[in-house]
Amino acid sequence: MSALPDPPGTDHDALVGTLLQLVRSEPTSTRASLTERSGMGRTIVTQRVNELIETGLLAETGRGKSTGGRAPREVRFRREAACVVGVEVGASSIDVALTDLAGRPLGCHEQSWDVARGPDATLDQIDVIIDRLRTAHQPRAVPLVGIGVGLPGPVEFATGTPVAPPIMPGWDGYPVRDHLAARHGVGVWVDNDVNVMALGELRAGTAVGVRDFLYVKVGTGIGAGLVSDGRLHRGTGGCAGDIGHIAVVGGAPQPCRCGKRGCLEALAGGAALARDALACAENGSSPYLSARLGDDRPALMASDVAAGARSGDHTCADLLKQAGEQIGRTLAGLINFFNPSLVVIGGGVALSGDLLLASIRHSVYALSLPLATRTLRVEMSALSSQAGMVGAAFTAIDELLAPRQLPGWTHRLCRDPLPQAATA
Ligand SMILES: [Zn+2]
Repeated sequence: MSALPDPPGTDHDALVGTLLQLVRSEPTSTRASLTERSGMGRTIVTQRVNELIETGLLAETGRGKSTGGRAPREVRFRREAACVVGVEVGASSIDVALTDLAGRPLGCHEQSWDVARGPDATLDQIDVIIDRLRTAHQPRAVPLVGIGVGLPGPVEFATGTPVAPPIMPGWDGYPVRDHLAARHGVGVWVDNDVNVMALGELRAGTAVGVRDFLYVKVGTGIGAGLVSDGRLHRGTGGCAGDIGHIAVVGGAPQPCRCGKRGCLEALAGGAALARDALACAENGSSPYLSARLGDDRPALMASDVAAGARSGDHTCADLLKQAGEQIGRTLAGLINFFNPSLVVIGGGVALSGDLLLASIRHSVYALSLPLATRTLRVEMSALSSQAGMVGAAFTAIDELLAPRQLPGWTHRLCRDPLPQAATA
């Protein structure tokens, strides 16, 4: 690292962070383009770029276009210099991706798993999956440098422990981060699933380049991740965005899984749709759902409602429309408050068809303030079912690339020049 002091008003870490963000967002840059985009002085930018080349995070690739005189040297982010693992634990699944430092999957594994089996069995299974993925897909000489994890419940980010998660019996206070760090010998960051999905959309999905947006997951439950001014907003206790438990007018009489009544989730989440589907099957109002129900199939799922709607069953379509309307109604209030330019809708229930999205959109545009919706987009998740594991990988990558973290791990980066195909 350079021994020269930075000029007054220039924070070393802030500039390194800015430069890393800039080089990650473009295939190649030049020192001149980075000077222009960062708004900092040419000398200091050149010094910091040279430092980052020394660490192995950046590489010079060749010469760019000349604007008169000698063509400038181009630099790029060496995403192939290390690997990270992203783990998404769902209520009924484990998805794991081994990725490069740009969050691009080198190998993935997805399987069914009941999170209620508890932390010991679940983390053992995750260890096995990580070992298998590394054996099959981790390039030789390229180190694993971090693991990111998304869990389906509230997580204290600073310690990597779940806090009173409603659907994860036995996980309350379990040291998830410490278990994985001890087992794999790398830095580990744990967050709730919706936050990691929001981060995935910000870095590699629908929200790339968007400063203020909401990611809304409609799965068994409903939750949201907030990105404000380009950063994930976790809140004081880490539960920002827990919108499933906002009370709604005319809420369901049944208690929510949080123990309260009237929550949005108890009215419009996947579990609520499954409950209402069973009632419609039993009272005969939906021929499709009645036919799905049988001795060998005593319960229905939200996906049955989506399939019914696609097949033309009016009751199924109405159930989805009503759920979308309730979600949109709650979102309209949040949009008036937060003024995002984008709402990304994801999660298993949302991804199962367009009807829910259409209904959410209709309700949002009808009920939000005109100024808040003037430039507002409501879009489906581009990362789809990969949002969790890719987002979890970015949870680790973003932390690793924080300038204060760099000295702790960049000495491990692979320095080998890799074949052209690997850097394309
Ligand atoms: Zn609730």
